[in-house]
Amino acid sequence: MDFTNIKCAEHTGQSSCLYCNKCEILVCPTCIAKVHKKHDLIEISDAYNIKVNKLKKGQSKMQKSNYKINAKKDELNKLVSAENIKYNKEKQNIRSHEETVKEQVEQYFKELKNKLEQSHETVLTSVKSDLNAISLFTTQKEDKITEVQNCIDLSNASEFFKDFKMIEKFTKTKNHKPSQATVHHQNLFQGILTNQTLDHYKMMETCQQK
Ligand SMILES: [Zn+2]
Ligand SMILES: [Zn+2]
Repeated sequence: MDFTNIKCAEHTGQSSCLYCNKCEILVCPTCIAKVHKKHDLIEISDAYNIKVNKLKKGQSKMQKSNYKINAKKDELNKLVSAENIKYNKEKQNIRSHEETVKEQVEQYFKELKNKLEQSHETVLTSVKSDLNAISLFTTQKEDKITEVQNCIDLSNASEFFKDFKMIEKFTKTKNHKPSQATVHHQNLFQGILTNQTLDHYKMMETCQQK
């Protein structure tokens, strides 16, 4: 850098020869004689070097500050990546768990419905069988009632006594007893429901513990 021929801003035709530290300006011989005689005057090159060093120090401080901020930024970015990985993994776990529980619940209710259908069918089959038996029995009984009436209505004595012998036998037959099947299946039906309810609660507890 050339420190010669620096024109004085105040005095035309004069060149600045020194730097006034107190006023922080370049000064020419006239400036010195008029104002800065007793001020702290130094060489322009020295003043320049001092100023440049001050700037460099300030610049260095700013750079260091920037490095620190950038390091912090990197740290935060790494944290974001780690958090995203953790989040996605956890999300996947929840999804997978959700699917498993859904399948189990679906399967559980499917089995529950199947058992109900089976029990229902068993009960209905049993009741229908009883109804058929009763219907058959009633029909047979009605036929016999008619036969008895026909016998009573006979006007011929020998025919009456002949018929009476035959009819007497079936008028003594016992009454129809409905089978115990209906009662038995109803109990079984209730038993299945109770066990399934217990299983249901057990399964729900297992799911919550996971
Ligand atoms: Zn001057
Ligand atoms: Zn001065």
